[in-house]
Amino acid sequence: MMAAPAAQLGFVLHVFAEGPNVSAAQVAAHVTVGDYRDADALRAFARGVDVLTFDHEHVPGPLLRELASEGINIQPPPAALAHAQDKLLMREAVERLGFPNPRWARASVPAELEAFGDTHGWPVVLKTPRGGYDGKGVMVLRSAAELPKASTWFTGEDLLVEEHVPFTRELAVLVARTPSGEAAAWPVMESVQVDSVCDEVIAPAQGLAEPVARAAVEAALRIAEALEVTGVMAVELFETPSSDAGFLVNELAMRPHNSGHWTMDGSVTGQFEQHLRAVLDLPLGDTSLTADVAVMRNYLGGSNTDTYAAYRSALSSDPSAKVHFYGKDIRPGRKIGHVNVVGATGETVEQVRARAGLTAAILRDGTASGKDPS
Ligand code: ADP
Repeated sequence: MMAAPAAQLGFVLHVFAEGPNVSAAQVAAHVTVGDYRDADALRAFARGVDVLTFDHEHVPGPLLRELASEGINIQPPPAALAHAQDKLLMREAVERLGFPNPRWARASVPAELEAFGDTHGWPVVLKTPRGGYDGKGVMVLRSAAELPKASTWFTGEDLLVEEHVPFTRELAVLVARTPSGEAAAWPVMESVQVDSVCDEVIAPAQGLAEPVARAAVEAALRIAEALEVTGVMAVELFETPSSDAGFLVNELAMRPHNSGHWTMDGSVTGQFEQHLRAVLDLPLGDTSLTADVAVMRNYLGGSNTDTYAAYRSALSSDPSAKVHFYGKDIRPGRKIGHVNVVGATGETVEQVRARAGLTAAILRDGTASGKDPS
């Protein structure tokens, strides 16, 4: 999704892809296929570009630090990126900067997990610090009786254990920062997860108290500055009255993020263009909304596999809905695209949500009889 703004601005994208048919390889002019854990392959690739950036967080930190020490321009720098790669490091940084974390601890053996639950109350949430996404690497334990199901997670490495936050909803703040220190934020948005996968995002978050919104944006900008983040960063939050600030920090993502997909159609500057501007140390774009509300709805692979037929129904059903398809093989439950709908004059948020939901449902089921997946 960086390809379109890159072409518009005349930047040449060179993608290091894990396979010849992955989404990014289908749209970039230059593609190198390789393993991002292979130091020699990555070094050869990195030497041929002006700036190296990411669309996921799994490139090993030691490898990136080695390339940075050889003079490769890496944005975000490996020391910043480490906080999105390691949730324990992230928790320590958020605490050090004075922003509100859920109660948390390290646990390297089940007894430490049990002691945490007994002290702070059950249920608790166990997380692998590295490599998780879309809820993979997150386990909720309702009581000590469920400890056996976590036993295979303990391999000697420290795990993260957290209180199970009774949040009212999940929020996110998206910011961008350049190496020169210019920063910009979009308004706080609300994200709805289904089975730990982002399903819907509403921007701006509706009915959010102004002081909470301001504090959340300030926290995200301060975290970006303090950790010397560059490019786009999403700060995922839990809205909860149990915190004085009105929120707790869940996690950091340092790249364009699912919670920010609405910006492609609902903001003057979309997150993919902003990420390119930021990592190239160019002035940032305007982050204002283009309407009162924008809604993004993900769609997962479903019963329909005929995208062209689904497009005939979906695009005629709502000509102002914007469909973004990832070029992935359709498999049930796989995130394969998203729909953005920007509110029209006089339209309620519920109407905008319903339109996004209907288009996503048609794309999933292939017919106009598709029901809103919610
Ligand atoms: P991932 O790296 O897979 O995105 P997260 O840490 O964001 O993992 O967790 C995925 C989802 O699990 C969150 O969006 C939230 O719905 C739920 N979750 C995570 N941590 C907690 C917690 N401490 N309390 C309650 N729910 C949580």
